[in-house]
Amino acid sequence: MPSLYIDGEWVASGDATCAQVVNPSDGSIVAEVDVATDAQVQAAIGAARRAFDHTDWPWSPTGERAALLDRVADLLARDEEEIARLETLNTGKAMRESRLDVQDVARVFRYYADLADKDAGRLVDASNPSIVSRIVYEPVGVCGLIGPWNYPLLQLSWKVAPALAAGNTIISKPASLTPLTTIHLTHLLEEAGAPRGVVNLVLGPGARVGQALADSADVDMISLTGGLEAGQALVRGAAVNMKKIAMELGGKSPNIVFADADFDTAVDNALTAAFVHSGQVCSAGCRAIVQDEIHDAFVDAIGQRADAIRLGHGMDDRTETGALISAEHRAKVEAYVRGAVEEGARLVAGGHRPAEADLQDGFYFRPTVFADVGPHMRIIREEVFGPVLTIERFTTEDEAIALANDTTYGLAGAVWTADASRAQRVAGRLRHGTVWINDYNTYLPQAEWGGFKRSGIGRELGPSGLDEYREAKHIWQNTAPGPMGWFGG
Ligand code: NAD
Repeated sequence: MPSLYIDGEWVASGDATCAQVVNPSDGSIVAEVDVATDAQVQAAIGAARRAFDHTDWPWSPTGERAALLDRVADLLARDEEEIARLETLNTGKAMRESRLDVQDVARVFRYYADLADKDAGRLVDASNPSIVSRIVYEPVGVCGLIGPWNYPLLQLSWKVAPALAAGNTIISKPASLTPLTTIHLTHLLEEAGAPRGVVNLVLGPGARVGQALADSADVDMISLTGGLEAGQALVRGAAVNMKKIAMELGGKSPNIVFADADFDTAVDNALTAAFVHSGQVCSAGCRAIVQDEIHDAFVDAIGQRADAIRLGHGMDDRTETGALISAEHRAKVEAYVRGAVEEGARLVAGGHRPAEADLQDGFYFRPTVFADVGPHMRIIREEVFGPVLTIERFTTEDEAIALANDTTYGLAGAVWTADASRAQRVAGRLRHGTVWINDYNTYLPQAEWGGFKRSGIGRELGPSGLDEYREAKHIWQNTAPGPMGWFGG
């Protein structure tokens, strides 16, 4: 079955180039997919352009677009187990997490189906009977949607659903390592009745295929979820045509624990924050910042719990967390760990690959904990995007806030305390796009998600997630026009 979807047709690679899709749990090949040629990328852009410029889709009744999204949500529910299986085979994450991802994706489609016809615009000035001044929202146009490998389906759906709800036409480009669930989603969009050319899918390396979307004058908007470097490359391309951009980039998220927090709950959640999906989470709570009085006990407890985490194949029900996405990515994580040791950090847990015989073919790395880390260390400053948790120490509230904000990123963070007013005070001062209080990693379709500083530009989810894919237009009508009389005449 061909895996590129261009102008309503499934097509194979124009020059017969295929890419192997690897299961990180055991290194096996799970599929081969077509890689788009440059001409096919341009054909996808052309199809999306035609569908936007020359069909009724952008101006179709919002109710019709909402119904399409609702049908996709139904189909996602129908195929939940199959999609979860594909996601686990492709990313190595545990099946229970993949199932939650698919459920979340269905909720996002339903949310934007519901929102599509809620905000048609507004009347600006109703005071003058001869003037009709109103704001209407229109789709941006052709949108290139580029996704990452850690939550391939989930992150792309946060773009696809609002983009279609707003009436745009789209070209999806998933990460080269993880195309399988995006291919499946595109089948569902076709089955749900997306008109020809409205939805397109191209596969291939970001630096060529993704960049071509950013560089094209026929693409009106680029939305990326990915790393800082890809974001910078795309923004440079997009700047030439001054296209709209939305960037969901990396993070280095602080997790502040005050001494009055419930100790066991804070430890347990700090473990999940750092090690779910082996830390390959943009908002991973990879920096625990812990108050003096409980610091040493916290380090001991986290170290013991981390050592007990069960690594395994994503398809194994006993697995608590899985492999890293690739051998290359594991090598990068290992380099960070070596660097931290060389810079003087104290290794408390992990720091090596697992010894189990059945894990030798996958790209596993033990959950790793460092204490006695300093603000200058690379392990504190750079996004590792792996199973590495650092633990810092603070004395006062101001100190905790200063440490948590001492990062070029600003995606998310958390504060654990029994003092409700302190929780609100600290949350208010953290320069991060999401702050959890006595919780971690909860997301809602209705709540905006996005980063301060180098964590990105714009917001996904919530009403703002729809606004990203709309242009506001002011329409002014004078129903009783007459000479203006400015010039004497
Ligand atoms: P990546 O930047 O390597 O790749 C992301 C996507 O961009 C891929 O589809 C890739 O092919 C494409 N790409 C890469 N270089 C490109 C270029 N020059 N031009 C155009 N496209 C290009 O990121 P990744 O390794 O897939 O994902 C991990 C990163 O994503 C981490 O930094 C993580 O924090 C971030 N992330 C952020 C969020 C968020 O919500 N803010 C969510 C998930 C992941």
